[in-house]
Amino acid sequence: MSFLIDHALRPIEHKLDEGIPLSLEDGMALWRTRDLHTLGRLAVRQKERKSGKNVYYVLNRYINSTNVCYAACKFCSFARGEKEEGAVRMTADEVVAKALETGTNFNQLHIVGGHDPRQLSLDYWLPLMRRFKERLPHVQLSLFTAAEIDYLARRHRLGYREVLTKLRDAGLDNINGGGAEIFSERFRREICPNKVDAANWLAIHEEAHGLGIASNATMLYGTIETLEERVEHLIRLRESQARSPGYNAFIPLAFHPDGNELSHFGWTTGLDDVKMFAVARLMLNNFDHIKAYWMIQGLKVCQVALQFGADDMDGTHGSTDEERIYHSAGTQSGQYVDDREFRRLIEAAGYVPVRRNTTYDVFPHDWKPQTAELTVA
Ligand code: SF4
Repeated sequence: MSFLIDHALRPIEHKLDEGIPLSLEDGMALWRTRDLHTLGRLAVRQKERKSGKNVYYVLNRYINSTNVCYAACKFCSFARGEKEEGAVRMTADEVVAKALETGTNFNQLHIVGGHDPRQLSLDYWLPLMRRFKERLPHVQLSLFTAAEIDYLARRHRLGYREVLTKLRDAGLDNINGGGAEIFSERFRREICPNKVDAANWLAIHEEAHGLGIASNATMLYGTIETLEERVEHLIRLRESQARSPGYNAFIPLAFHPDGNELSHFGWTTGLDDVKMFAVARLMLNNFDHIKAYWMIQGLKVCQVALQFGADDMDGTHGSTDEERIYHSAGTQSGQYVDDREFRRLIEAAGYVPVRRNTTYDVFPHDWKPQTAELTVA
């Protein structure tokens, strides 16, 4: 027996059961429906087809190694000029020390930063990556966004393939999903004209996948974009995954309004947030994972998102002060969630907590590396 109340969703339910990708019109119907319960149940059904009762989390370290950047994206509260108050630029030693501050029992090092003319160079990153991989081979390196890769390529006058090959050979496992924002040209022209364009963002990820580097994808929602542009963004990601598979997870990023030029848009609503997870789960039939990133929508919304198609709560982070992007923009989330809290929240939502690394290899929750005694130097 069908559980549909909004009968406009019936043909969509049928397509999902048949494994047919949803169209732009289907995506718009999902956004417009007021039948939130059906939307959630359809998304949960799709999620459980992908990952059953599992919900994933990772023990990780998260660092913003520099906030120096001149790209001037209007939604950004994080960037600073080199001499501006609040500018932070970590040395390689500081990055390693920060990552190891609370021990070596983690599976992912996640670093993103600004387009820093001094720090964002291969001369800085390649030795740092090799040093890290030699000492902690169990830690996967999830570094840079496509915007940073584009900056590196232009800076060193290299093609994307050359830059990515050097990074892969130094130990890069995964490219982070940021920098995608909204793919619409209208949006990028108005909001972030100085960073990588949509075609090159996609080209970088596809090139990376071809070289054996995994990646994630994001979408920044909650400013000038239309609902249609949100759905088109998801369809472009789905097409990219079909051309060059390698995206592991999609992560919706809710706009945060403090301290940037777009403050007048305010906060996204809880309704918009949970719908975003469900629409993404239903549109992205060739993505295995939809991530509810607690730093952004908050732990409580992210737990509810598990009933709207999300199957991942991201990572512990493991530091007291290192996430600056969303903290500059007003997030009320803290800096650290321990793995016991993830397991408690996931179990309370009726799911099975599963510890993973970046590429979704799974570990017993009490797994520990053999390299625990290694020192920083
Ligand atoms: S969003 Fe990234 S690229 Fe844009 S200004 Fe901020 S740090 Fe720079």
